[in-house]
Formats: sequence, C-alpha cells, structure tokens
Amino acid sequence: TVGSDTKAGLMSPKNMLTTTITDELRLATNFKSKVIGISLKDRGSILPAGHSANAAYWYDGQTGDWITSTHYMKKLPSWLEDHNKMKLANKFFDKNWNTLYPIETYTQSTADNVPYEGKARGEETPTFPHPLKLYIGKNYDMIKSTPYGNTITLDLAKLAILSENLGQGSSTDFLAVSCSATDYVGHQYGPNSVEIEDTYLRLDKDLEEFFNYLDTKIGKGNYLFFLSADHGAAHVSTFMEDNKLPGGLYSDSKVVKTINTLIEEKYHVKKAIVTSRNSQFYFDHDAIKAANADFTAIKNLAIETLKKEDEIFDAVDLNNLANETIPEQIKKAITYGYNAKRSGDVYYILKSNYFGGGKTGTTHGSWNPYDAHIPCVFMGWNVKPGKTNKTHYMTDIAATLAAMLHIQMPSGCVGEPITELTHQ
Ligand SMILES: [Zn+2]
Repeated sequence: TVGSDTKAGLMSPKNMLTTTITDELRLATNFKSKVIGISLKDRGSILPAGHSANAAYWYDGQTGDWITSTHYMKKLPSWLEDHNKMKLANKFFDKNWNTLYPIETYTQSTADNVPYEGKARGEETPTFPHPLKLYIGKNYDMIKSTPYGNTITLDLAKLAILSENLGQGSSTDFLAVSCSATDYVGHQYGPNSVEIEDTYLRLDKDLEEFFNYLDTKIGKGNYLFFLSADHGAAHVSTFMEDNKLPGGLYSDSKVVKTINTLIEEKYHVKKAIVTSRNSQFYFDHDAIKAANADFTAIKNLAIETLKKEDEIFDAVDLNNLANETIPEQIKKAITYGYNAKRSGDVYYILKSNYFGGGKTGTTHGSWNPYDAHIPCVFMGWNVKPGKTNKTHYMTDIAATLAAMLHIQMPSGCVGEPITELTHQ
C-alpha cells in the first residue's frame, strides 16, 4: 500500500491476462501517453488503467485517503498527499444527504420508506435526510454508498488532470474514471429507490461540471469522452413480489449439501463440491481421481439435481457446453466468461429476476437485459451527434477506441469497432 498503513493497497493487475486499451496506447506511443485510473474501488481503477499505467488511485475506506500500490510507484505524488490531508469526506458528511430537489418531485421511484431497502449503519429507517454527520472522522467508508462518492471521484479526476498536465503533451493521454457510488447505492436501496434517483440526478450535475472543466482545460472537441457501465441490476425481490412480477431469492447452500451427500453415498467422495461461486460449482478433482470415480457421472448427478430446483432455469456441464441445449445467446455469454484454469465445472442459470442475496437491496450477474443492457455514450473528438439501437457489446468499446486512435486492439479483444462511430 502506498498512501496509507492499511492493506487496501495490496492490489495490482497481476491476474489480468491480457493488455488493455490503455496498455496498447502506451505501447503505440512508446510510453509517451500518460495513463491514470481513478475509482473508489481498487478494481475500478486498476483494470481499466492496465498493467503499464502511470498510476491507478483508489479510495481507502478505513482512512479516507486516496491510495495506490507499489506496482505503480513508491510514493504518492505531493499533490495527492496534500489533497489527502484535507480529508474532504468529512466536508461532505457535514452536509448530510438530502434530496437535491424537493422529494415530491421524484417521480421515477417508489416511496422513500419501503421495507426492502437496506438501512445504512446507525440509521433507524432508510429515509431522507440520511444523517452523515455521525460518520465524520469515524467511518470514511460510508461515503461510498452516497452520491458524494461520485463527487469526490470526479473531483480527484479534475485534480489529476491539472496536476499531471493531462491532455497538454504531444501524445494522447488516457484518464479512466469509474464512478462506483451508483453501484453501492444500487445494491443497498435498489434501482427503484429515491436514493438511486437522487444519485443519478447528482451524477448528472457532477458530470456537467466535469465537462465544463474539460472544455476549459482541454478544449471542446479536443477530448474524446466515452461512458459505459459494467452491469445493471435486478429489481429488489420483494418489490417484484409486491407488484406481482416474477422473481425471488435463491441460495444454493442447501442444494450443494444435498448433492455432496448423494455423491458421497454413491461414489464415496467426501465434499466433492468444494465451493460454489458465481453460479459455478467447483469440484475436488484430486479426490474424485483418487476415488477412481466417474467425474462425468458425478457432474450429471449435480446437474440433474440442480434442474429440479424451482428457482433454476437450467444447469450445464462447462466442459461440454457445445452439446448443451440452451439458447445460443446464453451459451455464448457463458463461453466468453469461461477460463479453463479459473472457472468451475458446472454452471447453473437462474430464472429471470432470481438472485442470491437478502430481502433488502439487490445484485447483478445474470445474462438478462436488466443486468446486461448497459449505456454506451461517445462524445467529443471526431464524434457527430447521433444514436443507434443496433446491438453492440461492451467488448466493442476497446475495438472502437483502437480504430479511432489508430492503435492496436487489446491482446484479448473479441469485440468489433462500432462503425456508426468509426465511419462518420
Ligand atoms: Zn455491484
């Protein structure tokens, strides 16, 4: 960790197997391009900034400081040390969190006090105004699940542009910013909450200010801006229930136990499923081999048992995906997410709007449109206003940027340039 005494900086892009668009930009300009990543989350900063970035900064919730890892540098730049000393989170806590506009004008959300919103630590109800003063000097982490998390992120982005002279040199620089407060607020209160409506209204304001800053500092038309997201989210399960819509919760711990018992009885392998992560079962390959048991039969037993579960749409053998009868679109998504060394052996697909979680808040991670349909906005340098409803994928963004910048695509790029943008 560089910038605090905690373990929050013990992070790096070590496990990312490919180059990123930012790595390719560095390579193409013989490392003259400056690349900086900024996010509340370590991964939101590190992964887009790439292996060869000049810096990736993220927020240490234990100290309220922006930090990095020795992967990038030995010491924080002095402008960031000075910035950290101000402990700006306290300034935002002092304002509490009330709605930006009168609460009765919030027409895109359900009532402010509903039982399926998660409550913030120290709060009696999940309602406005959210008292934040109680966190001053005590719990810097709490800023993440308020819209101020985005504000402090974009404030740091502006400071980095100024302090590192981004966009002022002869090569193209790249600033990768991830506004992660939307994710924290969404998980806690759900996509139909007043909290999330307010968070987006405030993000809109913060972005306006950011564009004005870019227009002044870099100049209109001199910068290329793009915006996307890594996922959407399901509606909160009880919200769906209340509105007679399909959906619900699922926990696989019981079925894992059942399957493990069945396998032990029939094949004499104890705890054959070691763990279940991201809808994937990981089997104990060594134990199955040692018992001389039929792995295919074991997997089939797991799949058949899974398929009987009410909440499950289907289950497949990840090593035999080509022969599974599931929709091509879902198969493709699973294939792209599969890595022989890292993935599990059996994958299960939940029915739409089912997810693993609690009675309050929500999560993401499915193939369904509410999770997978994300925004894609390009603006500025060489971009004419327009829109398209043609399907493009998040993997197309790097290919599009590579085409616009005349540089190589990332080493693992499977996307294609969005020609509506590159053929203008
Ligand atoms: Zn999330």
